Amino acid sequence: MNEPRSAASTGNDFPYKAKTVCYIEVGKDGKVTQGGGRESYDRALAGECQLYAVWPGEWRSDLFIIDDLDEYARALGLIHDVERTGLVEHEHEVRWEISPYERNPGASYILIKVWLDCGCAIRDIRSFADHMRKQRGWDIATGGGWGGSRGDDPRAAEYSMRARRKSLTT
Ligand SMILES: [Zn+2]
Repeated sequence: MNEPRSAASTGNDFPYKAKTVCYIEVGKDGKVTQGGGRESYDRALAGECQLYAVWPGEWRSDLFIIDDLDEYARALGLIHDVERTGLVEHEHEVRWEISPYERNPGASYILIKVWLDCGCAIRDIRSFADHMRKQRGWDIATGGGWGGSRGDDPRAAEYSMRARRKSLTT
């Protein structure tokens, strides 16, 4: 009898999001169902089931145990990924001012300088824009250019981005 292999031991290689992966839930009562998604995550986290997956290969398929639920949830976008985005899930302490490079400060979208006093970093402008929309109603442009200085101290980093002027609050 072969024990299922460990999905965690494959590192970042396990194709959690692949549509061809079949997730299997084994409930505490032994009931077997096809699983996946958030509901499986919630049940596994609550200890109501153990989650397995079949990773289909070209010549053979193997059974894996989903032993790192955090990795599973991050891959499926069920939990926020601090490492990737640089942003902790909290109320950010943000300072901003109009960039000295902004030639038209009365325009609807303006260039601003941003500092994060909470110690977060901006690695992904979409995630930052999403946080700021929810927290302060800011409307940050995610399509165009943005940038930031990199240093050892995240609090000293200065970012530049475009945002809708009227959405900006102090
Ligand atoms: Zn923060």
